[in-house]
Amino acid sequence: MRDPECGHFVDGAQHGAISEPCRIPTRSEAIRGMPGFNKLLFFLKLAYLHSMKTTFLVPDKLPAIKEAKINGKSYGFQTGETILSFVRRYFGQDYIPTLCDSPQLEAFGSCRVCSVEVSRGAGQAFRTVGSCHTPVEAGMEILTESESVQKLRRNIIELVLTDHPLDCLTCEVNGNCELQDVAAKVGIRKVRYPEGKNHLDRQKDLSHPYMTSDLSKCIMCYRCVRACDEIQGQQVLNVMGRGFDSQIIKGMNQSFAESDCVSCGACAQACPTSAISDVFQSKALVGQTKVRTVCTYCGVGCNLEVSVKDGKVLSIQAPYTAEVNQGHTCLKGRYAFKFYKHPDRIRKPMIRNADGGFDEVSWDEAYDYITSKLKDIRTKHGPDSIAGISSARCTNEENYLMQKFIRAVIGTNNIDGCARVCHSPTALGMQRSFGTGAATNSIEDLKFTHAIMVIGANPTEGHPVTGAKLRQFAMKGKTCIVIDPRKTELAKYATHHLQLRPGTNVAVLNMMLHAIVSAKAYDRQFIELRTEGWEDFKENILSLNIAELEEVSGVSYSAARDAAIAYAKAENAMSFHGLGVTEHYQGTYTVMLIADLAMITGNIGKRGCGVNPLRGQNNVQGMADMGVQPYQGAGYLDHTQEEIRKQYSEFYGAEVPAAAGYKIPDMYDAAIRGDLKAMYVVGEDMAQSDPNTLHVINALKSLDLLVVQELFMTETSKLAHVVLPGASFLEKEGTFTNGERRIQKVNKVVEPVGEAKSDGQIIIDLMNRMGYKQADYEADSMLREISKIVPFFAGVSWENLGDRGKQWPVAADGTDTQILHQKEFKRGKGQFVFREYVETPEVLEYAAEFPFILTTNRVLEHYNAGTMTRRTGNAEIITEDLLLIHPKDAASYHIAERDFVDIESARGKISVRAHLTDEVKQGVLSTTFHFPELFVNIVTSSIHDSIAKCPEYKVVCVKICKKQ
Ligand code: SF4
Repeated sequence: MRDPECGHFVDGAQHGAISEPCRIPTRSEAIRGMPGFNKLLFFLKLAYLHSMKTTFLVPDKLPAIKEAKINGKSYGFQTGETILSFVRRYFGQDYIPTLCDSPQLEAFGSCRVCSVEVSRGAGQAFRTVGSCHTPVEAGMEILTESESVQKLRRNIIELVLTDHPLDCLTCEVNGNCELQDVAAKVGIRKVRYPEGKNHLDRQKDLSHPYMTSDLSKCIMCYRCVRACDEIQGQQVLNVMGRGFDSQIIKGMNQSFAESDCVSCGACAQACPTSAISDVFQSKALVGQTKVRTVCTYCGVGCNLEVSVKDGKVLSIQAPYTAEVNQGHTCLKGRYAFKFYKHPDRIRKPMIRNADGGFDEVSWDEAYDYITSKLKDIRTKHGPDSIAGISSARCTNEENYLMQKFIRAVIGTNNIDGCARVCHSPTALGMQRSFGTGAATNSIEDLKFTHAIMVIGANPTEGHPVTGAKLRQFAMKGKTCIVIDPRKTELAKYATHHLQLRPGTNVAVLNMMLHAIVSAKAYDRQFIELRTEGWEDFKENILSLNIAELEEVSGVSYSAARDAAIAYAKAENAMSFHGLGVTEHYQGTYTVMLIADLAMITGNIGKRGCGVNPLRGQNNVQGMADMGVQPYQGAGYLDHTQEEIRKQYSEFYGAEVPAAAGYKIPDMYDAAIRGDLKAMYVVGEDMAQSDPNTLHVINALKSLDLLVVQELFMTETSKLAHVVLPGASFLEKEGTFTNGERRIQKVNKVVEPVGEAKSDGQIIIDLMNRMGYKQADYEADSMLREISKIVPFFAGVSWENLGDRGKQWPVAADGTDTQILHQKEFKRGKGQFVFREYVETPEVLEYAAEFPFILTTNRVLEHYNAGTMTRRTGNAEIITEDLLLIHPKDAASYHIAERDFVDIESARGKISVRAHLTDEVKQGVLSTTFHFPELFVNIVTSSIHDSIAKCPEYKVVCVKICKKQ
């Protein structure tokens, strides 16, 4: 029908869909009538929308070359730019009202509120078009405020309001509602249409621990559906029905709790009203302050905007301007924050009493106890009888202080951190191949790559925001190689999945290298100019026994060759790897072979390439950068060299010893031997996380002094002599460095609970009491100190980090580095390293008696030992650890879904519920380790990576039986 005032066509009673020829077909048109919806067509559409995005969403980087008129005046525009983006650049973000448009979503053109009048040149008639999806043309005249478009906008909003509850005053988003803003902007005073059939009686969905919906407030802008598709790639939200009966549904018209929703919150953040929101009402205006900080969970390093009122965190949103996550998070970053004030938080220092319990004490008492014990032990047994373990949960500044405390105040290099049990082989392997043990490129480079190889990583669970980007890449049908014993989510979309036997990465990578060398598909020029060791390497690769490698890995040479050639032939190829590479007997060598693969194909030193470890914890990169390792000081300088040792000693004003200290496994052995008497542990639960639990507990119990700085009474805290209450990431300031070397500001959001203090201040208090002068903890001054000793922090200061952060190395003038090794490698030439596959001693020794291989994995909802996530709503979503077992294996042992299974290794026995799935091959089992009840490390072994000493969590020989 025609609108009586403006004469435009309007469709139905609700949405002002206007007939005009040049608009993009709406998604609703494409997906209405879902039963016949074809997956292939959907992916093609995604690819199409992606191509639109590349033209529409990056215009700022293109030069202005042509002109068009806006309301009678000429302005330069950029090729491919939309009218909306063109007008916004000159007149501001809110100049043209919009409803279905949203940052990070493709142009959609459904609400038509952004309509403008356009003439394509002198004498040409004006026509009404949607500005969000119509490209600007040279000579175009654009009228943004003509009477006609103003009437049209008013009419559209009036029609929307006929089917929207007018309960603004009690609505969660009152004052922060885009519909409210647009209605005010277009000048709605009253709705002229009579009340008719509507959807105001739709029921709320409050089924989920986090997500909520009230679809009576839905304006059918599809932003939620598009966010679910285009940002997260989950495709849970959809549209059912046609015309007036159209409605947003979850899954198969289920509730949030029943659906496959992963609670990333992208839909809630995208929704312009409160139709989809969350239990924290994160779009409400009640927060007095918004503080920007960085997520405490994984190494992606998502930026968060925390809403605070009366010293309490209300909710968290994701800033669209964040370089790392562009308005996206996973459920951990956005929703799993309530742990910070959980009743279980340690609120006062405690000292173990004679009955084996703990007494709460003052800070002075705790400090006196610790210093007198440390001094006593150092005098009687020497400084090397003391060791420290620092934390990837802590800031760079705190990690720097902790290693300084151990080196300069205690006088030993016995300092290590959790990188030892995750990515130490990455740091070592990449250092030996390239000279630098960190990611060579940025996640942003996915925009410039043509192939990805993901090996030993399950990023959609472990690194969800990066995982979502990788999934989007794979869903578009681009070359995606997954090397993993499990059929991970990404593997389901991959063009190549090499489902190898756990522990045989080296065998598969060698087959891939063999295929590239045999086919001469290598980059000869890069090899000659940039590398060394090629001839020996080539000879060794060509002499491999391929049949043997096929046999041990379970992967055919032809599959490995197809994947290798796809990687080699891609114009740019990126590799990503995780703990499925490092937590193996041959972890460091596997990293070197990944580096070989990048060098042999010239995929280093440019955009869209590189070797990109997916770092586990939020600041595991920064922890190592700051010198938390026993053989290199802050900035990876080798203190065993006299000159470097002198440099550190002068800088700290205290003698730093030369000899390398104990790595974490050595600490346990030394404690059991009686050589190590005291350990100072910050934020690390080794008794639950480290392998061979009984051995670890035995070691910790052998100590004369165990000090633990923690948030909660973990399994390690329970063994301590002194427990000190540390502060969570929301309660302190400093910097974290994410997996792409980006140093980002962590701002204090609330005061620490109880008497807790920042870990940095606790360490400083102890330094002073041990006789070493160190000023009170302040991120600003600590960064100044660090920038003077860590070469790649030279130009880092608190002020110049800004909101974007900086990727190290940062030159003295503040210039940072997105891509490493562009002209030459840090070590000069890249080093080819050949390594033959060797079976792990675990299999050689135990496979006959323990025929299954148990490997470990994570789920999205929990983080590592679950210390934090189990104290949030995430514990309502995933309530226990599960054992993944192939249905045929389960049948052989009469195991049914959810039955308890006994798992026994040479070290011990545990029980866990079964989940039958073909995600694992026969003979392979996989379990998570988030709940302390499981104690999976009772069965893991003490076998380590042969060089870096990272434990082999990923290959454990076990036998199983149904629990009676
Ligand atoms: Fe936090 Fe990682 Fe999730 Fe981002 S992806 S919100 S950094 S846990």
